[in-house]
Order: sequence, then structure tokens, then C-alpha cells
Amino acid sequence: MKIAVLPGDGIGTEIVAEAIKVLKALDLPFQMETALVGGAAFAAHGHPLPDATLKLAKEADAILFGAVGDWKYDNLERHLRPEQAILGLRKNLGLFANFRPAICYEQLVDASSLKPELVAGLDILIIRELTGDIYFGQPRGRRTSVDGLFPGAEEAFDTMRYSKPEIERIAHVAFQAARKRSKRVTSVDKANVLETFQFWKDVVSEVGKQYPDIALDHMYVDNAAMQLVKAPKKFDVIVTGNMFGDILSDEASMLTGSIGMLPSASLNASNQGLYEPSHGSAPDIAGKGVANPLATILSAAMMLRFSLNQESAAQRIEAAVQSVLRQGLRTADIYSEGTTRVSTLEMGNAVVKAL
Ligand code: NAD
Repeated sequence: MKIAVLPGDGIGTEIVAEAIKVLKALDLPFQMETALVGGAAFAAHGHPLPDATLKLAKEADAILFGAVGDWKYDNLERHLRPEQAILGLRKNLGLFANFRPAICYEQLVDASSLKPELVAGLDILIIRELTGDIYFGQPRGRRTSVDGLFPGAEEAFDTMRYSKPEIERIAHVAFQAARKRSKRVTSVDKANVLETFQFWKDVVSEVGKQYPDIALDHMYVDNAAMQLVKAPKKFDVIVTGNMFGDILSDEASMLTGSIGMLPSASLNASNQGLYEPSHGSAPDIAGKGVANPLATILSAAMMLRFSLNQESAAQRIEAAVQSVLRQGLRTADIYSEGTTRVSTLEMGNAVVKAL
């Protein structure tokens, strides 16, 4: 089981170190190799995704990824910015299906920004298409002087685009995931305004005919954003495009108490996957030892389940995380009165001990 470890920037190195500790405690035959990515790779090699890092990732069964990004790189040309590394990995490895479960652990009900009765028992799965949409559409660019529609004006543009096969394959992923859950899929679009998402809706409906056992409904993204905070438990599986999925999954993360709790898996057609917390590099708290490592540790559990075929080890990690939460241990982001505040390192150690 070959794992490429790409810690990245900011809190990435701190949280990945804790996940590695947990993986090592399982005593399974992992081969782990670490490489630079993001701002750290740019600083050392002049590129956020050096060839050697990409090669390591391609040859691995799975990639454990921390986070990339730092404000100090905000003025770099776009193709050299740290965030391009994650887009490059997704594109190069064909990681089109992003799974973001949002589960509200019983012990964290009070850490949610919503009333306990709205989130207690919450268990939804957001499936975000990851290699299409406006993040990858061409043409994109900036014009300082244009003729035609806005003569002489400055403008910037990105193109929203989806092909039929791209929508079909993510729809299949969603319907198949729903079969293992409560058999409901909500497809989120903006078909009332965007041609791309009318097409999305039509294709998802067509694929849905092959899954008569699954109830499919469609919802506009603005309504979905509202329903997620009004009655989140109404959802089971949500499937949506790259940009809407990006935004809705961050929104859903707060229902669970903190973005520091939310793992993710990004898979390609052969189940090779990249596993990372849903949050970014959090430069505001980097180096302080306060970041929550649980999203990364739970991402490692998803890695064992989806790419390494180690279901029982995945369950052991998830049970260990529940156990530390039951013990009342909390990093700052999920701390509430009456619980014990711990550092990133102490949280990792507690999970290892619980294992
Ligand atoms: P962020 O997710 O890094 O942080 C948002 C807020 O959540 C911050 O207040 C942060 O302190 C907090 N937070 C995040 N993770 C936490 C954790 N594990 N424990 C406790 N608190 C946590 O988002 P941002 O501030 O918008 O972006 C920071 C950088 O990360 C940017 O450069 C952005 O581009 C990048 N980013 C990278 C990824 C990725 O690597 N996949 C994803 C999102 C953002």
C-alpha cells in the first residue's frame, strides 16, 4: 500500500503529522513517501506541483494531502500560485468525484452554529464534481481593452462548461452511493438561469431512469443553500457541480461544528484517491499548534476504506475519534465550556491512545 504524503503549507504540515502518527499506530504494511507541494514546493523548486511530486502521486495507491496556500503568494501569477497544485493533481489523476460527508457527532451538537435539534443525527453526503465547471472551463482570462459589448472597458471572464460524459459519470457515482444509504439524491443546479445547469439537470434525470429504486429531486443552488441551514436533515446525498459543491460543502461543514472536522475523498475511475481535509491551510492559525487534526485523521480513514481496501482499520480510526470526543477532548475550534482544550499534537496522541 503505497501512500504519497503531501503536507503542503500552513497547518498542512501540523495536521498531516498527526494523521501519519495514527496510520503508523495501525501497524499495517504502508509505504509512505513525502513530497513538497503548494507554496512550499514553489519556494524550493519554483513550481507548486513539481514533476517529482506529480510522479510520486501518480505512482501511489493513495495520496494523503494537507492543504496549500499562503497569503504571501497572492500576488504570484495564477499558474504559480499554491492552489494550482491541487487543481493540477485533480486534473492529472482524473479525480472527478469528491465525497464530502457532513456528520454531526453527538458530542459536538453544541459546537454547531445551528440549534441542536436541527443538527443532532445529521449525516449527509455531498458529492461534488471536481474536474469540470467554471474552475476548468476555457476560455478564461482578462482583457484590459475590449471592443464590442463593452468598448474600452476592462473585463475578466471564466467559462462555465460541462460535457455529457462528465455529468453522467458523477451522476452514476451519486446514485450508487445513495444505494448504500437512504436511497435519496438531490441534484443541485441553477437551471433557471444557466444553460450549463439546465443540461446538468437533463442529464442527471436521464441517468436517474437507470436507478428506479432511488428517489431523485432537483433543487436550485440558492434554495439548497437556504435549506441546508433551515432543515439540513432533509438531505441525504447531494450531487452538484464543482463551484456549487465547493460552496455548499463549506456551508455544510459548519453544521457539524467546525470545518476542522470535515474529511474528503477525491476518486478517479480506478479508485485511486486523494484524501484531504475540506478546509484550507488556515494561515491565521498556522504554527500555533491549535489546528484541529481530526478532519485529516478522518480523511486517512476514508483512504483506508476507498483506496486501500482496509474497512476494519477505517472503522477503528472512526471509533477512536468518537472515543476522544466522548472523553471531552477538544481543539480550540470545537471547544465549549466543560470540555478539555487540547493542542493539535495532544489530539493526535489521544486518537493513537484510543486506537
Ligand atoms: P481555510 O479553510 O484555510 O480557513 C477558514 C477558517 O477556518 C480560518 O479561520 C481557519 O483558522 C479555520 N480553520 C480551517 N481549518 C481549521 C482546522 N483544521 N482547525 C481549526 N480551524 C480551522 O480557508 P481560507 O482562510 O479561506 O484560505 C486559506 C488558504 O487556504 C488560501 O490560500 C486558500 O486558497 C487555501 N485553501 C486551500 C484548500 C486546499 O488545499 N484544498 C482549500 C481551501 C482553501
